[in-house]
Amino acid sequence: MRRGLIGGNWKMNGSREFVAAFASRWTELHATPVDDVFICPPIGLFDALSRALPHVVLGAQNVYLEASGAYTGEHSADMVSDLGARFALVGHSERRQLFGEDDSTVAGKFLASQRAGVTPVLCVGETLDERRAGAAADVVARQIDAVVAAAGIGAFNDAVVAYEPVWAIGTGETATPAEAQEMHEMIRERLTKSDQNVGDAIRILYGGSVKADNAALLFAEPDIDGGLVGGASLDAAELNTIRQSLPEH
Ligand code: PEP
Repeated sequence: MRRGLIGGNWKMNGSREFVAAFASRWTELHATPVDDVFICPPIGLFDALSRALPHVVLGAQNVYLEASGAYTGEHSADMVSDLGARFALVGHSERRQLFGEDDSTVAGKFLASQRAGVTPVLCVGETLDERRAGAAADVVARQIDAVVAAAGIGAFNDAVVAYEPVWAIGTGETATPAEAQEMHEMIRERLTKSDQNVGDAIRILYGGSVKADNAALLFAEPDIDGGLVGGASLDAAELNTIRQSLPEH
């Protein structure tokens, strides 16, 4: 039985004042700390969030592939680990599209995260053109295979996959539960072909305009193990409702 997981990706949003308000609302909603939600604030807000919510599970939105050196503006996986991150997004579509990250860079970041003891959340997904061309499954399979080739299937014992169709991210458009399930099943089968245990155990999150009112139907699908939530994760109450839509709640 895979345990559900929710990631909140704040992207480049927030301030110390915002963190204080979020934390106070989150504390009102949770009498005890929760460990099935991780939040990825901008690096500059890690400290404020972990002081305001000492038990929060932190994730990084990105890491660089080298451990240290002359890489102005970057943060290594060791650095985000030192700041308390337990997860790191790698290959988010905004990184792939806006910052030119290719499959080999993403694989490098996946490996760097694991070397630092940070669980990578490998983000994959097709663009609208790729979906319209009937290439969605091929594109996502290629993105998965590139990391399996570089890291080995065993590395997926300590990893999470997030299927995020690019056309559904930040657009308000969501894949239907059936569309998402089809892709999640394909991803799981692909990993299962290399290692049955890995395929059975790996958590595959859906991302793309997950909201309080569509989460339960998505999470009811057999291969959708939770969500990676962007915009809606900035609202503590909505993020909590999404969490409560996990089947075990
Ligand atoms: C994301 O940033 O990974 C995401 C899915 O964003 P949104 O929920 O806003 O579509």
